[in-house]
Amino acid sequence: MTEYKCINCKKVVTLDEIGSKAKCPYCSSKILIKLRPKTVKLVKAR
Ligand SMILES: [Zn+2]
Repeated sequence: MTEYKCINCKKVVTLDEIGSKAKCPYCSSKILIKLRPKTVKLVKAR
């Protein structure tokens, strides 16, 4: 699932939520940044 981050309200929305309208479902902003799905970092506490 591709995820996008709205630069206006900073919410992460999936392509499903955006749908065919191509805008943020929360604030209606049309500027969304595509997020990489594989940037999962595991950081261990020392
Ligand atoms: Zn938004």
